[in-house]
Amino acid sequence: MSKGVTPWEFELEHIDYARIIQEFGLQPMTSELLKRMKSSHRLFKRQIIFAHRDFDRILDAQEKQEQFVVLTGMMPSGRFHFGHKVIADLMAWYQQQGVMLYIPVSDIEAHVIRGIDLDTCKDIIINEYVLNYLALGVDLVSKDRCCLYSQWRNDLVRNLSFKAASKITLSQMHAMYGFSNSDNMGKIFFPFIDAADILHPQLPERGGVKPVLVPVGVDQDIHLRLSRDLAPRFGMLKPSSIYTKMMSGLQGPGTKMSSSKPETAIFLSDSPEVAKQKLKDAFTGGRETIQEQKRMGGQPERCVVYEFLLFHFEDELLEVTYDRCKSGNLMCGDCKAVVSDRVVKFLAEVQRKREEAKSLLPKVFENQLL
Ligand code: SF4
Repeated sequence: MSKGVTPWEFELEHIDYARIIQEFGLQPMTSELLKRMKSSHRLFKRQIIFAHRDFDRILDAQEKQEQFVVLTGMMPSGRFHFGHKVIADLMAWYQQQGVMLYIPVSDIEAHVIRGIDLDTCKDIIINEYVLNYLALGVDLVSKDRCCLYSQWRNDLVRNLSFKAASKITLSQMHAMYGFSNSDNMGKIFFPFIDAADILHPQLPERGGVKPVLVPVGVDQDIHLRLSRDLAPRFGMLKPSSIYTKMMSGLQGPGTKMSSSKPETAIFLSDSPEVAKQKLKDAFTGGRETIQEQKRMGGQPERCVVYEFLLFHFEDELLEVTYDRCKSGNLMCGDCKAVVSDRVVKFLAEVQRKREEAKSLLPKVFENQLL
């Protein structure tokens, strides 16, 4: 396995996307594939989704107006930040096109591997994930539009995980995951829960075999590979996947946003003052002096402030900022003020919607397996 690219020890500074595509045997997301999409999302248009496995199967299904589903997990590891928002936005977009969503809450993983107690997991899922997903426009209430469940409570997933485990040997798991003798057995078994999450929408109880699309970061690819290995053994289609680039932490390219390190990320629950200060302190691609910035232009491609526009905001602001920055007509202080204003407006809106979403929680609990 590539150093620095495991689900549990992700080190962004080691990530080279061209190398990942080659080493992991992914396919690059080509313009030919993008042209086949009837409508697009900014993550596709801006090449933030940079690679895939069998995405053509999803496009085939769309063209033939056949059913497919989209699945991604919620990991209750801490506060919800702009990095988490990237996938939530994509899920909302697919759901708006009539696609059924599957959202497993990775509470077994959080408990078994990360040692988070179950009450804390539930608290994080409700306050940080469910409310923010609802505020970002994902319908978690309607059973026919979304299946949201705790891994602990989903019998189909649990049963399938045991069947999946019976098909893989310990030495194969060692070869794939590189476990050590000091790893607990829960960590060694957990990948089968994850694989069962990905495969179970194809069970007869879920309507049978169908294409499944999993949007995922490259750090999670190993679970996809296990699922794809297992799928034909259950008469299922290999799941398709798309891979998103990771937003940098506020300290600059090569740093990671972390829910447990508030200085690295802007959380959707941050106050306007806190968000503004974080952006003020954020790493930019600006030059040493104003004179140099005017003469040489800035470097948006290595600027965290620019990444906020790239990953989250509208085309016009993105393009104007890029042009003015590159041509030396925009200074970082002024740019930060504009982006800050945009972020604060967004936070005010999303926080208002979070409050409104609280009234939906009883229905979420009534309809889903939490
Ligand atoms: Fe980044 Fe804006 Fe400075 Fe350009 S002007 S380097 S986009 S902060």
